Amino acid sequence: MTDNTVFVNNVKLSELSSMKTGGLAEKCCFPEDEKQLISCIHALKSEKREYIVLGNMSNVLIPDGNIDFVPVVTTKMTKVEKTFDGNGKLHVYAFCGVKLTKLAFEICDMGYSGAQFAYGIPGTVGGAVFMNAGAYGSEIKEIAEFVDFYDAEKDEIIRIDKKDCGFGYRTSAFQEKKGVILGASFVFEKGDREEIMKEAKETMQKRVDKQPLEYPSCGSAFKRPEGYFAGKLIEDCGLKGISVGGAQVSEKHAGFIINKGGATTKDVKELIELIQKEVKEKFDIELVPEIRIL
Ligand SMILES: Cc1cc2nc3c(=O)[nH]c(=O)nc-3n(C[C@H](O)[C@H](O)[C@H](O)COP(=O)(O)OP(=O)(O)OC[C@H]3O[C@@H](n4cnc5c(N)ncnc54)[C@H](O)[C@@H]3O)c2cc1C
Repeated sequence: MTDNTVFVNNVKLSELSSMKTGGLAEKCCFPEDEKQLISCIHALKSEKREYIVLGNMSNVLIPDGNIDFVPVVTTKMTKVEKTFDGNGKLHVYAFCGVKLTKLAFEICDMGYSGAQFAYGIPGTVGGAVFMNAGAYGSEIKEIAEFVDFYDAEKDEIIRIDKKDCGFGYRTSAFQEKKGVILGASFVFEKGDREEIMKEAKETMQKRVDKQPLEYPSCGSAFKRPEGYFAGKLIEDCGLKGISVGGAQVSEKHAGFIINKGGATTKDVKELIELIQKEVKEKFDIELVPEIRIL
C-alpha cells in the first residue's frame, strides 16, 4: 500500500454526506495532491479494490451498512491558481477539491463576472464539472476552458478541451469514464464589482428563501423533465410532506428530499421510487433522479 497517511480507517460516511445518510467505509482515501491521488488509485487497483471518487458528497446517496468500495475523497485537493491574460480576462485553475461556492465568491469579489450562479452550490469543482452543475440559467459549461482528467484505464493524464467534455443538462462525458477530474480551468470577464456581488447575493437569497437549507439534502432530487418542473409535478400529486422513515418530501420545496432526522439511504431510495411511480401514473412522465445513487 502507498503512503498510509492518505488512508483513514472506519469512516462514517453519514457524517460527511450532505444527506447525512450512508454507512461505514472500512477504508477511505483523502489525497492532498495529484501524486497522492494517483498512487492511491494504483494501490487500490493492485489490491483489486473497487473505489469511487467523491467530492463534497452533496449529490450522492451512499449505501447503508458496510460500504463495499473505497471512497477516494478529494476535499483536501484545494490548490487554486489565478492568471490574467492580455485581454483583461481572469483564468482560474482550480484543483478538484476546491469548494465551488467559496471560489465563486472570491471571483465575484474580485469584480469578475460569470461565477455568480455558482455561489451557493455546495459541491467541489470536480463534482460540479462531473455534473455540469448549474443554477438560475447558467452552468459550468459556460465558464469552463479545459479539464485535466486522470484516465484510470490508460493510467494517463489528459487535458480535455471544453468542447470535448460532453457537457449537457446535469451531465458530462466524465459520467461514462473511469477516472478522476483532477482540476479545471475557468475564464471570467471583468465587470462591475458591485453589480456582480449584488447578483451573487440575490442568488444566494433566492436559495435561502426557497430551499429547505435547514435540513440535510442533496439539493434537487430529480432532473427537470422537459417543459415541466419536477417540484410542481410532485406537489400536484399531493406528495408534499410525505415521508418514508426519516426521509421527507420537503414542505418548503417539493423538489427536495430532506432528512428530517434518522433517515437511511434506504428510506430516501424508497421515497424516490414512490414519487417516480406516482408521477408516472398521474402525468405519464418519468422523473430521472439528479442525485447519483451509488
Ligand atoms: C442544498 C443543496 C443545493 C444544491 N444546489 C445545486 C444547484 O443549484 N445546482 C446544481 O447543479 N447542483 C446543486 N446541488 C447538488 C450538488 O451540490 C452539485 O451537483 C455538486 O456539483 C456536486 O459536487 P460534489 O463535490 O458534492 O460531488 P459529489 O456529490 O461528491 O459527487 C457527485 C458525482 O460526481 C463524481 N465526482 C465527484 N468528484 C469527482 C472527481 N474529482 N472526478 C470524477 N468524478 C467525481 C462522483 O463520483 C459522483 O458521481 C445542491 C445540493 C445541495 C445539498
